Amino acid sequence: MSADAHRSADVDGALPLGAEMPEGARFVGPLPGLVAGWKGRDFPADEDLNMCVACGLCLPHCPTYRLTGEEPASPRGRIAAMRLVGEGRADVDSTFARFMDLCLTCRACEDVCPSRVPYGRMMERARVQTEPLHSRRTRLLLWLGLDVALPHKHLLWLAAAFQPLATPFLPRRVRALVPKRSELLARLPGTTEPQGEARGTVAILSGCVQDRWYRSANRATIRVLARNGWQVVVPPKQACCGALAAHYGRLDTARGQAEQTIRAFEGYDRIVVNGAGCGAHMKEYGELLGTDEARAFSAKVRDLMEFLHDEGVEPPSGGLGSGSERTVVAYHDACHALRAQGIREQPRAILRWIPGLELVDIPNGDRCCGAAGLYNVLQPEMSGALMRQKAEAIASTGATVVVSANPGCTMQIATGLRAIGKDIEVLHPVEILDRAYRKGARP
Ligand code: SF4
Ligand code: SF4
Repeated sequence: MSADAHRSADVDGALPLGAEMPEGARFVGPLPGLVAGWKGRDFPADEDLNMCVACGLCLPHCPTYRLTGEEPASPRGRIAAMRLVGEGRADVDSTFARFMDLCLTCRACEDVCPSRVPYGRMMERARVQTEPLHSRRTRLLLWLGLDVALPHKHLLWLAAAFQPLATPFLPRRVRALVPKRSELLARLPGTTEPQGEARGTVAILSGCVQDRWYRSANRATIRVLARNGWQVVVPPKQACCGALAAHYGRLDTARGQAEQTIRAFEGYDRIVVNGAGCGAHMKEYGELLGTDEARAFSAKVRDLMEFLHDEGVEPPSGGLGSGSERTVVAYHDACHALRAQGIREQPRAILRWIPGLELVDIPNGDRCCGAAGLYNVLQPEMSGALMRQKAEAIASTGATVVVSANPGCTMQIATGLRAIGKDIEVLHPVEILDRAYRKGARP
């Protein structure tokens, strides 16, 4: 739509600010009389957009800019595009959607931005705007996955139950990603009593993908917390936290899931989450729902490794290997732990306490692995390039184990390592601690 088409005849009869300026000159800002191109109630706020000073410091940190070299595939370019729509000078069209979809929502830009632009929040809202532009097939798949399956545990269970039958019919790239399902029939214990002196109660999020495909991380979480004196409760009415729905333009679905999660955890003061994406999202429920109740809930949410570090854990007396064997472990920083929650040192400090464990950093370890929720399914080319880079960087460390605290990253890294023929185990950091506890004798 042209600028003229947006221009209204007059704005309440008042002269616009700067009308006395020379012909054609104006203050920087929206052209008077233009109407924003957003629809509905969820769109990037002007206050957020205006925080960007276009300095470009974020550009070298943006994976999609680094790979394409294109300004519209950079944070600054995307914000500029959102601004044009907000000012009524452009529409939400397929080009706009293409560059928004290419964003990983890794928030590397947010982390380095001197103006503290809330990029993640803006992108979530921009994606609500682009959602109707996706193909019918994509919208159907997103609806089935995000609105139907993830919020309903029994449907997720059915998906896992029929996984062996369905897998051959999945597209090859999806087939390569799907991990083995976890135990189908057993359930996590509702309550696990602490060992030794009780320190209090923690309620844990078992998660949707985490629990269905990475149950071993949940079991290790329970064992490690109980060993360190915590009574561990798995609230039965919890389902998906809504992080994926929020990242893929379904904020209303995400709001419903947030409300359900808050209800499920009612009465607990310590809420511990072992999935980085889920924890980051639950810490932002206050912002998503805008209520005091949601803000109070978010204040209680702690990442598992952050919690263990801050509350203190018994140092393990046993290592991972036999005798004096050294185990090289590479640490993968999930974007939603490192960027969105500022968690970097806490898990490393805990892992360094394990005898015989040599912790190594991955070269360019702060770069996204390309999993980014459903990004690896929806943007296979960009995701595949980032996955290969990450797998090769991990292999270059000589590690035999790589740890990742996010199920999406775990899936992506395992696929990448398989693709380059490397037999490197991918575990959650708490699984390493749990193994060390189980190997060593209790002091
Ligand atoms: S998002 Fe931040 S770092 Fe990037 S151009 Fe804008 S102000 Fe600069
Ligand atoms: S969130 Fe990540 S991919 Fe998206 S603009 Fe920021 S740095 Fe680039």
